[in-house]
Amino acid sequence: MKIHEYQAKSVLARFGVPVPRGEVAFSADDVGDIARRLGGSVVVVKAQIHAGGRGKGGGVKLAKSPDEAQQIAKQMIGMTLVTHQTGPEGRKVGRVLVEEGLQIDRELYLSIVIDRATACPVVIASAAGGMDIEEVAESHPEKILREAIDSGTGIVPFQARKLAFGMGLGAGPAQKLVTVLTAIYKAFIETDASMIEINPLILTKGGDLLALDAKVAFDDNAMY
Ligand code: ADP
Ligand code: MG
Repeated sequence: MKIHEYQAKSVLARFGVPVPRGEVAFSADDVGDIARRLGGSVVVVKAQIHAGGRGKGGGVKLAKSPDEAQQIAKQMIGMTLVTHQTGPEGRKVGRVLVEEGLQIDRELYLSIVIDRATACPVVIASAAGGMDIEEVAESHPEKILREAIDSGTGIVPFQARKLAFGMGLGAGPAQKLVTVLTAIYKAFIETDASMIEINPLILTKGGDLLALDAKVAFDDNAMY
C-alpha cells in the first residue's frame, strides 16, 4: 500500500524526522490562507499523486505570493499529471501539499528497503539526490552507498556516520544524519514499512537536514 507525500511526511514527523512545514489542500480556495499561515517569501505547491518525477512533469511549483500559490493550485487540482513514472495516461491530481520554500544547499538520497536476498533492511544513500536513483545507479554505480542493517541491533551510529562521510558531509551534518537516519529506521520498523525513500534529503543553507520528499510503502501482509 502506498500513501501520499503529505501523509508520509506526517508519519515521519511523528518519529522525529524533520520535514518542511506544510498543509494539504483539497481545494484551491484554501491555498491562499495556507500560504499566508506559512509566511515567508516562497511557498511550494506540490501535486499529491502516487508517483514520482513530479518536479520535471510540472507537479512541483514555486510561488512568490499567496495569490500566486492559489493560482497554481487552481490549475493543478483536477489536472491529469503525466510524469515518467505515471505512464502516458497520467494521474488525476485531487489535492496539493502547500509547503514552505526552503533554501537548498545540497540534495541527497536516502532510503531503507528490505533486501530480499538476506531478508534484512538495507540503507541506500547517495550524494546524488534529487534525481532518479535508477539513473544514478546506471551511470554512476559508485555513487550509491549501501549499508546492511542487523535487524536485531538496528542502526548503529557508526553506520550512519560512515554513510554521511561517504556522501561528503562535514562533522555537523554527519551528526544530524545519525539522528535523522535513526528516526527514519524507527519509523520503518514500527510502521511495518516495506520502503521509505527520501529523495531528496536536503541540507539547507542554514545547515539543517530535512526530508523534502518522502515515499512510504507498507507491507500489505502486515496490515491490521
Ligand atoms: P518529485 O520527486 O516527484 O519530482 P520532489 O518533492 O522531490 O518531487 O520535488 C522536486 C524538486 O523540487 C526537489 O528536488 C527540490 O529541488 C524542489 N522542491 C520540492 N519541495 C521544495 C521545498 N519545500 N522548497 C524548495 N524546493 C523544493
Ligand atoms: Mg522526489
